[in-house]
Amino acid sequence: MLSVVLLLACSISVRAVVVARNLLDDPVTFAATTYDFVVVGGGTAGLTVAARLAEAHFTVGVLEAGQYRPNDPVIDVPKNFGTAVGNANYDWIYATVPQLNVNNRSIRHPRGKVLGGSSAINFEMFNRPAKQEYSAWSALNLGKGQWDWTGILPYLKKSETFTPPRPQDEFPTVSLNRRRSALPALVDEYLKYARDVLGESVVSLVDFVSAGFDDASLVVDARDDPFHGFVGPVKASHNEWYSDVANPFIATMNSLGISTNDEPDSGNNIGIYNCPASVDRSAGVRSYAAPAYFAPNSASANLVVLTGAQATKVNFAAIGTASVAAKSVNFLSGGTQYTVQARKEIILSGGVFNSPQVLELSGVGDKSRLQGFGIESILDLPGVGENLQDHAMVPLSFKLTDGHHTWDELRNNATFAAEAAAQYAATQNGILASTISVLSFFPLQTFLNQTAVESTVSSLISDLTQSITSSSALRILQNVVQLVWLQNRRIPQLEIVMIPGFNPTGTVTVPTAGTSYLTVAAVLQHPFSRGSVHITSTDPVAKPAVDPNYLSVAFDKAVLLEGIKFIRKLASTEPLASHIASFNDPPASSTTDEQLEQYLKLGLESLKHPVGTCAMAPREIGGVVSEQLLVHGTVNLRVVDASVFPLHISAHAQSTTYAIAEKAADTIKLAHA
Ligand SMILES: Cc1cc2nc3c(=O)[nH]c(=O)nc-3n(C[C@H](O)[C@H](O)[C@H](O)COP(=O)(O)OP(=O)(O)OC[C@H]3O[C@@H](n4cnc5c(N)ncnc54)[C@H](O)[C@@H]3O)c2cc1C
Repeated sequence: MLSVVLLLACSISVRAVVVARNLLDDPVTFAATTYDFVVVGGGTAGLTVAARLAEAHFTVGVLEAGQYRPNDPVIDVPKNFGTAVGNANYDWIYATVPQLNVNNRSIRHPRGKVLGGSSAINFEMFNRPAKQEYSAWSALNLGKGQWDWTGILPYLKKSETFTPPRPQDEFPTVSLNRRRSALPALVDEYLKYARDVLGESVVSLVDFVSAGFDDASLVVDARDDPFHGFVGPVKASHNEWYSDVANPFIATMNSLGISTNDEPDSGNNIGIYNCPASVDRSAGVRSYAAPAYFAPNSASANLVVLTGAQATKVNFAAIGTASVAAKSVNFLSGGTQYTVQARKEIILSGGVFNSPQVLELSGVGDKSRLQGFGIESILDLPGVGENLQDHAMVPLSFKLTDGHHTWDELRNNATFAAEAAAQYAATQNGILASTISVLSFFPLQTFLNQTAVESTVSSLISDLTQSITSSSALRILQNVVQLVWLQNRRIPQLEIVMIPGFNPTGTVTVPTAGTSYLTVAAVLQHPFSRGSVHITSTDPVAKPAVDPNYLSVAFDKAVLLEGIKFIRKLASTEPLASHIASFNDPPASSTTDEQLEQYLKLGLESLKHPVGTCAMAPREIGGVVSEQLLVHGTVNLRVVDASVFPLHISAHAQSTTYAIAEKAADTIKLAHA
């Protein structure tokens, strides 16, 4: 039935068709031009930075491996999120190497392969972390480049046109709980070792991060709106359809100490809230990088996009001994190799897996690793492809009592699905314009008692201390930051996502016909595990090996296990409990820690937020790009995408990725003013 819905939705193209004069499929013409900037990857960040540079009168050539797919209901219809996953017309279809700690399973890792990149296939949640998390980015870069809340907020605002929820869609407000817990003695123990290994530089880092926890700086007036932008390219709006299980869910979360947060974009994201979606509500369609940043510039002579073209290598010219200059990019189109020249800079925006791949293929990365493939080392940067961090999640599903309205009705009831399609065609609204919207974020202290927090953190510190001598400086400093965060109730460690229907990405079981479900996912926000992505071959079309190394630090498993228990407690607490007919995945018979751990290993998947593989941090501690996003050791090669996150955030990744690209564009314009 969903295919009928899709077909119907297909016939009601609601976005204006843009004739893109600067969209090329001719590689010869593209390669014959020298652009001021060549951008590799027309995705979330790539189109943003390209459009802003073109608006500033630079010429920009964008290489995009995927195709432009305007007015495609798979992308556009908000409720169709997830349907592009696994489809090669939209998705690179990555999967991890077998993951030791989850039964050697290979975990799916979709990445957008289409103009607009992952913003075209993501699940449309559009939110922000706690402000102190950006302070840590700034701290890891010694305060340079203003990567703190004050420095990033203007770009979060610049990228969006925000529409608040209608009054009837606001969640009931429950006052915020701001108690602080004490763990300093435990954290001090790790700091002592960190000081021994790293020297006194770590002390100033801790001071820098801790300064962001000033209570006064978090007091906000929710009705005053200094936090949102109202004229930016990406439309952020709220659902107008909600499942009838949402209200009992929210009330139960409130009763378990998760307060409603009516200004989650303010830098304080603790609590349960109605998450905005990247949806253009007036047209009822997804708002993503292609319509937001490319389409408005599609008649501009400055911005040229070549689709179906995969960059394979950056070519350098040596300048002096200390740094090199990038001059051109090799790319494949229709099986033939071409080269395009850049006058000023080359910007890699291929995303968290492909940007490090292109760097390694170009001789930038760990020297000994590259020599193993016979690749000439241009720059020895061991951090390339390291520091992979992801939001691991585990979804639990519950069968609902009869008569509930969830997304399952589209599968269960052909008449309902046809009516929904007709409503969407007529009004661009209704259930087909809805997305996941009930999110909550909270610290350990909300779902563990103080003794459990202390013992969990104590085991963590012992694990981190044991591995400290084999950890990179970046990793040790990140551990310090994350331990400081664990002391503080302002930094979420767990996200709970409410999905009104059967899990759209689940692999454990299939839904029963005629049944409605509630899916609730626990998502680890700040993993201590670190993974990597590296080439496995010199063949540029061979996929690199993705290894998030899930649950390699026991703390990560412990938090997710406690998350599972919290969700089961939630489902057993009124008023939600009356709406639950039975536990589905895992079944009610799974009660022991061993059984729940088995379920965790079976059900763990990615929330699809891998970040960090070209980390923005000083070269001496293992960083790949500077605070200007210049690849260390180069004068004009930048990375602008989610791979530069130095440390993960308690938010979905897209709005921060847009902000990074907006900020990068200003930095680059200044450099060439
Ligand atoms: C299924 C899914 C669901 C998600 N859900 C959410 C969500 O609900 N909310 C949220 O905030 N975030 C979500 N995310 C994450 C978010 O969308 C990404 O973190 C963000 O879009 C990444 O942006 P980017 O610019 O780094 O990479 P991308 O947007 O992926 O862009 C990379 C682009 O480069 C192109 N490319 C790559 N290599 C080459 C090459 N060698 N030559 C030419 N082109 C190349 C790709 O085709 C792609 O277009 C989700 C992601 C996925 C995949």
